Amino acid sequence: MARIVQKYGGTSVGDVERIRKVAERIKLTRDQGNEVVVVVSARSGVTNELLARAKSLCDEPSDRELDMLLSVGEQETIALTAMALHGMGVDAVSRTGAQAGIFTDKVHTRAKIQAIKSETIEKDLAEGHVVIVAGFQGINEDGQITTFGRGGSDLTAIAMAAAIHADKCEIYTDVDGVYTADPRVVTDACKLSELSYDEMLELASSGTKVMQSRSVEFAKKHNVVFEVRSSFNFNPGTIVKEEVSYMEKVVVRGVSVDKDQAKVIVSNILDKPGTSAKVFRALADANVLVDMIVQNVGRQGIANLTFTVPQGDSQSAVKLLEPVLDEIGGGQIAIHEHVAKLSVVGVGMKTHSGVAATVFQALADNEINIDLISTSEIKISIVIDQDRADEAARVTHAAFELDKIGD
Ligand code: ADP
Ligand code: ASP
Ligand code: MG
Repeated sequence: MARIVQKYGGTSVGDVERIRKVAERIKLTRDQGNEVVVVVSARSGVTNELLARAKSLCDEPSDRELDMLLSVGEQETIALTAMALHGMGVDAVSRTGAQAGIFTDKVHTRAKIQAIKSETIEKDLAEGHVVIVAGFQGINEDGQITTFGRGGSDLTAIAMAAAIHADKCEIYTDVDGVYTADPRVVTDACKLSELSYDEMLELASSGTKVMQSRSVEFAKKHNVVFEVRSSFNFNPGTIVKEEVSYMEKVVVRGVSVDKDQAKVIVSNILDKPGTSAKVFRALADANVLVDMIVQNVGRQGIANLTFTVPQGDSQSAVKLLEPVLDEIGGGQIAIHEHVAKLSVVGVGMKTHSGVAATVFQALADNEINIDLISTSEIKISIVIDQDRADEAARVTHAAFELDKIGD
């Protein structure tokens, strides 16, 4: 007998027929003698619909009320999944995040899990139930419902697998695994059979939405090995773990695109110690995630700061920075929302040179202009025009011959 955590994403539980199919797969796992904890997302589209309704009533809905609203989507699917299992004679119980003992900090809409008190789940399992846990939600010490940011059901699954010491964590989605690029954009992308946490993390944090990046961070920290696979077939998926055998041989393993980026330019500010500290402190205190940062120093002690933030945060970044400009002696702020970030990722970059040159050449050959560049040990990211982003992914994928590295 093994203890298995399975997570089913929005498309996999998109309607009652799909929920029935998911229940059949859960029953199969259960009938093989395993203990099963299932995490489900809201039906695909539901979280977006709820968000749109909130915004139709109020320009800036409060984060507390958003959490109250958005957590409803997952509550629907846990009950329906449990009912589908009951209909097949399987003993199952649904649990909200709070009932599953998922405790978080107080940051609404992007809460961090602080602890999972798994007594209830352990008791449910000991009593022979399949447990169906609502993804994406928890509770804070004030008893308030919190959510974990978009795609947060992945985090619920990984954290639950760590908390209950699961033998296996399976992330079921609508593609066969993690590919060298989004298979919907790059049609000759290859499925990877294995990927290291570091590569998955860099891909996820640069726009590969098949896994939420915070969930990968959690998996790395707690050493939760997981498999990304399709809920529509029985093909083997992609195993994500600490070390993978190919490591140094293949330089680039994937290309990702993030269209949810905005570029903020703070220009004509004084080039003196403390200016950047004040700008980025104001953003950090408001939990705005800043990604690429470039500073150009102009003449006569004047500098320009350019950085990227998630698109949804660009207006609040401006609001936060207006008072800072007064404090630092003036300057102007401009936003460009029509940008995208292209990233190439691979552990092999640590030991190979020429990766940046290959990317730049592929973009140059296709007359795609480079705006900002940043690098880490295993990633190169480039800000480009949003309209050229998919094309940029395809030409970069081809330049590294990633259509040939599938395994
Ligand atoms: P779920 O609802 O199951 O959580 P998501 O929509 O969050 O699923 O993630 C799955 C989607 O991620 C796929 O449909 C695919 O289009 C997209 N995706 C983007 N990049 C990749 C990639 N490199 N490999 C696989 N899927 C990718
Ligand atoms: N329902 C949430 C979302 O759409 C969480 C998830 O699906 O993982 O972002
Ligand atoms: Mg997802």
